[in-house]
Amino acid sequence: MLNTRQIFKVILASSLAAVSLFSSQRSPVDAEKTAERVLQQAIIIDTHADTPQMMLDEGYDLAQPESPYMVSIPKMRQGHLGAEFFSIWVDVTWPKQDLIHRALDLIEVVNEQVARHSDVLGMATTADEIVRIHLQGKFAILMGVEGGHIIEDDLRVLDIYSRLGVRYMTLTHTANTDWADSSGDQPKWTGLTDLGKQVVERMNRLGMMVDISHVSDKTFYDGLAVSKAPVIASHSSCRALCNVPRNMSDDMIRALAKNGGVMDINFYSGFLSQAYADANKKVEKQLNAELAAARARYASQGKRLPYPEEQKIERSVLKDLPAPSYTAIADHIDHAVQVGGVDHVGLGSDFDGIDSAPVGMEDVSKLPDLVRELARRGYSEQDLKKILGGNLLRVMRQVESVSRDMRK
Ligand SMILES: [Zn+2]
Ligand SMILES: [Zn+2]
Repeated sequence: MLNTRQIFKVILASSLAAVSLFSSQRSPVDAEKTAERVLQQAIIIDTHADTPQMMLDEGYDLAQPESPYMVSIPKMRQGHLGAEFFSIWVDVTWPKQDLIHRALDLIEVVNEQVARHSDVLGMATTADEIVRIHLQGKFAILMGVEGGHIIEDDLRVLDIYSRLGVRYMTLTHTANTDWADSSGDQPKWTGLTDLGKQVVERMNRLGMMVDISHVSDKTFYDGLAVSKAPVIASHSSCRALCNVPRNMSDDMIRALAKNGGVMDINFYSGFLSQAYADANKKVEKQLNAELAAARARYASQGKRLPYPEEQKIERSVLKDLPAPSYTAIADHIDHAVQVGGVDHVGLGSDFDGIDSAPVGMEDVSKLPDLVRELARRGYSEQDLKKILGGNLLRVMRQVESVSRDMRK
């Protein structure tokens, strides 16, 4: 017979097991201490922010104290950020012959920012450089090209991007390229074409990470089969918690883990919360129509719609939608860890590329609250450091090593 004390213990143990599969939850005081230690020691790496468009189109300076955007130097400092991958993104509707020009302009403007603020920013192109810049007390800045359309079907453009310091490329954006299917489009190639496979091989050789965010499921599996190095999902969340094509199914998460890669959880409300995604669907048409009308108004005066104006329209249309709490990010991290393992999860905020962030994660300055939430959930310090950036550093090193071997 169990006495009362033993019965209590059994109940306690089973309820803790239900709350967290990894270890027991921490007391608030313990969690706070753990989070503080981790914030001091970890190199927090965010693999996706779309801020360069604001720099290029509006002369946005990262040092601006009252920044209207999600990423700025003061916010990075508050957020204990270690490294940011700035996205070199060009819209799929951009004139085809100007895609490379636009990308080069974006790369240039990121370099300008790093040069202008070299006291606090440093450009990194390797995992070791991220660590070195971090040890100097600076923020490491990296670049990833978002969308295979931006090479204009010319493999040599990959060489150029690589030489300019770009360290990943997302194989597609929201539309199919001429060699890969996107999750945002109707399947055309059943995954990767022969040229698509050559793109992946060339990226392996160059030491550029292959990014499978945005691609169709078939392109994902084809990419994994071809790539000689681990791949990343620079900004994707879990389909089991929010069923949208941009997120990864459990089977994809397992395949990515087997490949040794890392999926970096996207902070967009519509990828974290099913309720938000469903509600967003209902106002999507209205939002797009209002944005198109505003763009046309500005275009008639030979101007482009300014980003703050765009945000105002977005806020007014989306204001009643049920944005999730930032703890939803931790839910997705939990799920990805349960399915794929703690070595294959990271952070890919998508800041400045999203029109809704969770409540409590409005910009990069709020990252420490996510660390505290994860600490409360009982992750070990070592596992927290992996999720916050260690896993990405490992993948970068593996990609660098595969590149060295292939060039021999
Ligand atoms: Zn982006
Ligand atoms: Zn994206």
